[in-house]
Amino acid sequence: MYTYDLTIDGNAVSTGSTFEVINPSTLQPAGAAPNAGAAELDAAVAAAKRAFETWSQKSDEELQAACEEVTAKIGEHAEELAQIITAEQGKPLNGLGSRWEVGGAGAWAGYTAGLSLPMKVLQDNNEGRVELHRKPLGVVGSITPWNFPVLIAIWHIMPALRTGNTVVIKPSPLTPLSTLRLVQIMNEVLPAGVVNVVTGDDAEQNLGALMSAHSDIRKIVFTGSCATGQKVMRSAAETMKRLTLELGGNDAGIVLPDADPKQIAEGLFWGGFINNGQTCAAMKRLYVHESIHDEVCEALVDYARNVPMGDGLDENSVLGPVQNRMQFDKLSRLVADACERGDVLLGGKPGDGLFFPPTIIAGLKNGDALVDEEQFGPALPIIKYSDVEDAIAQANDSANGLGGSVWSSDIDAARAVAKRMECGSVWINKHGMIQPNAPFGGVKSSGIGVEFGEEGLAEYTDIQVLFA
Ligand code: NAD
Repeated sequence: MYTYDLTIDGNAVSTGSTFEVINPSTLQPAGAAPNAGAAELDAAVAAAKRAFETWSQKSDEELQAACEEVTAKIGEHAEELAQIITAEQGKPLNGLGSRWEVGGAGAWAGYTAGLSLPMKVLQDNNEGRVELHRKPLGVVGSITPWNFPVLIAIWHIMPALRTGNTVVIKPSPLTPLSTLRLVQIMNEVLPAGVVNVVTGDDAEQNLGALMSAHSDIRKIVFTGSCATGQKVMRSAAETMKRLTLELGGNDAGIVLPDADPKQIAEGLFWGGFINNGQTCAAMKRLYVHESIHDEVCEALVDYARNVPMGDGLDENSVLGPVQNRMQFDKLSRLVADACERGDVLLGGKPGDGLFFPPTIIAGLKNGDALVDEEQFGPALPIIKYSDVEDAIAQANDSANGLGGSVWSSDIDAARAVAKRMECGSVWINKHGMIQPNAPFGGVKSSGIGVEFGEEGLAEYTDIQVLFA
């Protein structure tokens, strides 16, 4: 059982009550988290505001050094954090699971520590000198989802710290434990108040809503669903907060007629089923040319049926359970509907507890719920097409625009299709790969702004232009 206090102003803070966190593999408690409300949030924001006075004055070198110390701490505690993630999130320790997630968190933290946004001289002549300075914003409020609790926390916290901001983070009530521990670990090397964490069950007081409306928070970085992102945006308007919104996706993959089914099967599978499909930029619908449709389906199903699923703590598991009941029920509904409309090639029936076997259903089309809605689970609809133009149009016929992919043996043909996909990231012969130096974000309803790289870092600053 994992239980942690809040960390506010460098201190362990307990609340009158806690809420239970369930291990989705066993449906037994994984631990408990403090049930904080407005009072704890106000204390955390006040602490972050005080800490900002000195943190924002640190030199670029000092900020880099501090971020490197944080990175080292994550490395020291990598296995501990992975165990907590698996206990509360359900994903396996192995494969593309929790150890991989924490490894990624370390890589992102280290890369972000080394980034900087130096002052730029825009003009320096006898008409005067013009300089562009980047200024930290103040207190950043981070709101995270349950699918990658540590990785996404790092994506929010590190660029904020690196640019001289201070942070209050609020994880999902479904996966609060790893974030509580992460912030404790960070506080071993950071000054008090620079990073604070509050957790709550959202039942009586919704901390995320309180944060979006809080007058002393200058920016919200939010990763989660489109519906909640819209609420955050509405509420943030009152105080003119800066926003980065990383929201849902319904990524399409398009397999061109010249692709090699056997060669792409593994990539297609992990494009769709990474983290059990509970990934914003997972491939959520696959358009396959009629000339190779059956071969692609066969190769994909052959690969998928051999991927071991089980309790995340079992070292042999490569896929775990669905994270929570609400998600499981939504997935079950979408799959049941798709089973009636299409050809079930694999899976199709819920398993025990929150386990849902990988499900592949062909014979579907745009307009079917499993194709149109973000299923966010281990089910992939396959749509047969005959004309590439038509496939592009169907792929783009979505309110979302996070990622997309094209699968082909002809890189030029793939590139031409890729450029026409309406999404923030597009991959050729892979899906969902991200890296710390490449800006990541959605177009259309999938979000506002980007994370990663210099462009992502800049989102934690305001520009001040100095005319001398
Ligand atoms: P969610 O929107 O339900 O919750 C996200 C966070 O918002 C949680 O911390 C929650 O407590 C908080 N929240 C709830 N109500 C709020 C309110 N009124 N105001 C502010 N915050 C509030 O999302 P989820 O179910 O945790 O995550 C799944 C969704 O996240 C999927 O749609 C997925 O595509 C998306 N996602 C996007 C990315 C990306 O980078 N684009 C990454 C991961 C997940």
